[in-house]
Amino acid sequence: MSCNCEEQNVKVLEPQEKTAIVPTSVNRTAYVSISVDDGHPLDMLTAELLTKYGVPATFYAPARNPERRVLNPTQLREIAQSFEIGSHTLNHLPLTTVTAERAWLEISEGKAWLQDLLGRTVSSFCYPRGKYTRNIISMVERAGFLGARTCALNRTDFPDSPFRFGVSTQAHNHARSIQLRHALLEGNFRGIMDYVRVYHTETKWESHFERALDVVEAEGGVAHLTMHSWEIDDNGDWDKFEDMLRMISQRPQLKRVTNGELYAEWAAQHPEYVAEHASASTHSTA
Ligand SMILES: [Zn+2]
Repeated sequence: MSCNCEEQNVKVLEPQEKTAIVPTSVNRTAYVSISVDDGHPLDMLTAELLTKYGVPATFYAPARNPERRVLNPTQLREIAQSFEIGSHTLNHLPLTTVTAERAWLEISEGKAWLQDLLGRTVSSFCYPRGKYTRNIISMVERAGFLGARTCALNRTDFPDSPFRFGVSTQAHNHARSIQLRHALLEGNFRGIMDYVRVYHTETKWESHFERALDVVEAEGGVAHLTMHSWEIDDNGDWDKFEDMLRMISQRPQLKRVTNGELYAEWAAQHPEYVAEHASASTHSTA
């Protein structure tokens, strides 16, 4: 018998201690989640298709976007009847390009605006353009969010922090050079490795995401597709998107969840983190 130190450690521990040291990636549940960014009016069509196939999603909506139109309040409330709405700040500015004071306003006011509009708590957050720092994570946590999504691609794992959830696939074809540059800029080394191991450097987004579904079914983890409705439209990809939803609906072993349900699952797996951070926030309000 070969010496496997990890195995020996596990054998001498009590069950509760075992839980504490086993990495979260050992969770074999296979999740699939979809996020729709930027609150574009074409999200109405996306919502219709998701409903048709019974696939949940999280729509991340800013109050304003300097680059594109956004859903009006009536449309946003309509989507909110069937889907989770997450916050994407007030003005969709990359938070690393503004002062700390402005970043705090963008995060906290973006949450307040959405909660007033929807009449319910908003607990999921997405960093505009995927830009964040440790300080910005602290602000997002202080504002009362449970978790946040980045733009780190080629990921299927539960991260080490609920404020660093990556995604598997963006619904847009990416050249290999873009994938590598993007990953290097973000220090997403696991993403680079999985881009080769899991995704076989696939450039077509629909094949790329299919690989994510396959590997998650086999190994557990999260197959997470992120998309912009306007980009699907620009690329003439509505049929491909519908094919993807059909494929998800035909794989019953995948647990279909919103991003918020992923963040809640993360918290359930890390009670010690939750207890520590709950007491920290109680003290900081004094
Ligand atoms: Zn965005």
